[in-house]
Amino acid sequence: MALVNEHFLKLSNNYLFADIAKKVNAFKVMHPKANVISLGIGDVTQPLCPAVIDAMHKAADEMGTAEGFKGYGPEQGYVFLREAILKNDFLPRGIHLDIDEIFINDGAKSDTGNIQELIRWDNSIGVTDPIYPVYIDSNVMIGRAGTIEDGKWSNVVYMPCTAENGFVPKIPDRRVDVIYLCYPNNPTGMVITKSELRKWVNYALKNDALIFYDAAYQAYIQDDDIPHSIYEIRGARHCAIEFHSYSKTAGFTGIRCGYTVVPKELTASTLTGERIPLNPLWYRRQCTKFNGTSYISQRAAEAIYTPEGKKQVKATIDYYMHNAKQMLATLRRLGYEVYGGENAPYIWMRTPDSSSSWQFFENLLYGANVVCTPGVGFGPAGEGYVRFTAFGSHELTEEALMRLEKWTNNNL
Ligand SMILES: *Cc1c(COP(=O)(O)O)cnc(C)c1O
Repeated sequence: MALVNEHFLKLSNNYLFADIAKKVNAFKVMHPKANVISLGIGDVTQPLCPAVIDAMHKAADEMGTAEGFKGYGPEQGYVFLREAILKNDFLPRGIHLDIDEIFINDGAKSDTGNIQELIRWDNSIGVTDPIYPVYIDSNVMIGRAGTIEDGKWSNVVYMPCTAENGFVPKIPDRRVDVIYLCYPNNPTGMVITKSELRKWVNYALKNDALIFYDAAYQAYIQDDDIPHSIYEIRGARHCAIEFHSYSKTAGFTGIRCGYTVVPKELTASTLTGERIPLNPLWYRRQCTKFNGTSYISQRAAEAIYTPEGKKQVKATIDYYMHNAKQMLATLRRLGYEVYGGENAPYIWMRTPDSSSSWQFFENLLYGANVVCTPGVGFGPAGEGYVRFTAFGSHELTEEALMRLEKWTNNNL
């Protein structure tokens, strides 16, 4: 008899965005003429930049010749891309990484979900709350998260990030073996300062804990003193793995490419206290379960680091950040309590009149035909908040804001 992995059964069946789609569809069936604008889902909308397209065309042509054809590539990724990463993402910040510490991935979701295979099933994990659901769900699937009670997993330490604590998570007072951090944050759009991040690195070093640091949104940072990488903090090489993605940086959600940094100094302990370096373990894992990101995607990613590529990618980020600025200004003027949106493409808004996340979601959908994401979908501390994304076009974002303004004024 084949037995199922019953840990999967503990997961809630409802995936947040499927729930939202269901509610939006129900609305559309009843109001077929309504023109619904989504400021909800976290996908980009602007086309790939010319430098990336040229690189992909060139790579495709190359693959069509006997000399240029590429079969399986190195599991860790091509040297040309890993070198471009070292030279552009780390060296200018004074971070010296070795090329074997970079692992090209097919996007940060896979690796943030898979990385937990490196640690024993009985480690405790700590997450900021609200949070990107992949971190917890991937631990649930192998039984590490325990059981769920009142929306919280028994083996997960939740570190609430709310307006009350300025969205700065408190260092836990009990031992946590592995901590997931994501900055700039999805969903709150908030960032962490170097001095706050230093506290986490020091906690991890002192408690022999690991930090899994998701830097998927680092390209959106506008303030000079906000860290782009955890390795800007001394000692982080001994305690942190970092994830990057070209999805939000350069519109690669459909191309699939990113990278993971596993420093060679990073170790974890066996039960008997032997220190085991994680870099060779991750290499072994990748060689077994991953056959690399496509050559064409890696050439596309390399093009982001050319002078034209940099300029074009920045223009798209500026385009989205213009939306964020408009959204912040309008929502503030209307008297809403809003956060984030200055170094990230997300705006986190407290729902007015203490309405629940889902209640506000429905009010906004029915009243203004605008879709947001209920904050509670990202964790218990997200209740009473909603998320807006700046990934829309200027036109639709402006239209949505106009409707929001009219709707708000009608409700006063
Ligand atoms: C979008 C996102 C990612 C990136 O996912 P990809 O698999 O690279 O497309 C990673 N982490 C967070 C928090 C995200 O929001």
